[in-house]
Amino acid sequence: MHKLTSKTYDIAIIGGGIHGAGVAQAAAAAGYSVLLLEQNEIGSGTSSRSSKLIHGGLRYLESAQFSLVKECLKERSNLISLAPNLVKLVPFYIPVYKDSQRTALIIRLGLSLYALLGKLRDNFLFSKISPQGWENTDKISTKELICVFQYWDAQTDDQALTNAVMHSARSLGADIISSAKFTHAKLEKNNCELNLIINNQKLTADSRFLVNASGPWVSQTLQTITPTPPITPIDLVQGTHILVDRNQSQGIYYLESPSDKRAVFSMPWKNKTLIGTTETIYNGDPAKVTPTQAEIDYLISIYNHYFPTRCIDESHILSSFAGLRVLPKDAQSVFSRSRDTFFSTYPNNNPKLLSIYGGKLTTYRSTAQKVLNTIKSTLPKRKIIANPSKLKLFPPNTSTV
Ligand SMILES: Cc1cc2nc3c(=O)[nH]c(=O)nc-3n(C[C@H](O)[C@H](O)[C@H](O)COP(=O)(O)OP(=O)(O)OC[C@H]3O[C@@H](n4cnc5c(N)ncnc54)[C@H](O)[C@@H]3O)c2cc1C
Repeated sequence: MHKLTSKTYDIAIIGGGIHGAGVAQAAAAAGYSVLLLEQNEIGSGTSSRSSKLIHGGLRYLESAQFSLVKECLKERSNLISLAPNLVKLVPFYIPVYKDSQRTALIIRLGLSLYALLGKLRDNFLFSKISPQGWENTDKISTKELICVFQYWDAQTDDQALTNAVMHSARSLGADIISSAKFTHAKLEKNNCELNLIINNQKLTADSRFLVNASGPWVSQTLQTITPTPPITPIDLVQGTHILVDRNQSQGIYYLESPSDKRAVFSMPWKNKTLIGTTETIYNGDPAKVTPTQAEIDYLISIYNHYFPTRCIDESHILSSFAGLRVLPKDAQSVFSRSRDTFFSTYPNNNPKLLSIYGGKLTTYRSTAQKVLNTIKSTLPKRKIIANPSKLKLFPPNTSTV
């Protein structure tokens, strides 16, 4: 079988989502030689099907995920300065009604804690706005409306951000190959032999370390590795968004689902409105995940509850998409489960393989740094090329000069 190249890479990465991109950038900046394989287009997995928010995750305060919120808010701040064309602060609105489960006091406490955890770094001013006048703007229902809280978080184009990080990794010397499917690997004492397919051609490549950043495919990827590493039990949890033919000018609405009290966003997106998301356990092939009818009905009903004069039905849906969260298997409800990233390494002594589970788009930089800190003792010393905290990110097709 042909070799992709005669060189042995320091790190090979499976998966061209935001985590693969982040690790490729951080590793190349640290001077390591890097190969990244993506079976489809860059960012075509979960990293193009998120809610597109770079945020602390206000709702994670309810499940006491304080350290995650703190880390996310720090990263929000970093990304606003590193990628100002891709990550932008947007006003968020939380309407509070007479029957809202989260009262005005709870929201005020939550937003105060949010500001404190964010160390008041960017725009953490929040305000309580009276219920008058809302019918004139985005026409949110004012029936039994007590007040609306306004605060700030950031929005991005997730796939464009992934491509920008990948572009940065490439400019630091990483070899990034899309339409390249990793098929299996053999871990040996001093080498990992990878097998891949590009344009129907079977090839091999060698690396000193293998990073499994294959997102919802993480367990499938592990099953192809010899000797077989232990597989951490996970749930794949589908989240659907619908893009509807409605213009929303004010900002993002943070809505409480009347049926199950979950938080759902209605967001301006390319002059239309993006509504999401859902949480449905998924047991199928990650490549085949699609929105279900029940999810579409659920999102339409929430929008219609809050925007009764601008009601939508299926004929207003321009497109829809579903992505998969990777969550630890747990008896807790999906809504309350940790959204933190976690790793597994193999073998225990002198690991050759690290797998990334779960995580947030927002924290991809800190996750990548944690990956490098975990594996650097297994790799030869290299000369640092750049500091990733200083590397500006540009939207695809934008000149970097
Ligand atoms: C519905 C939803 C909403 C979300 N909203 C937000 C949000 O608003 N803000 C936020 O911060 N986070 C959000 N997240 C989380 C965030 O989107 C994910 O944590 C992140 O995108 C995961 O990136 P990843 O690189 O791990 O996985 P992916 O983006 O899925 O990338 C994995 C890649 O591996 C590739 N791959 C798999 N197997 C192989 C193989 N054998 N060979 C080659 N390539 C392979 C796949 O094609 C895929 O492109 C959301 C997640 C979901 C599901």
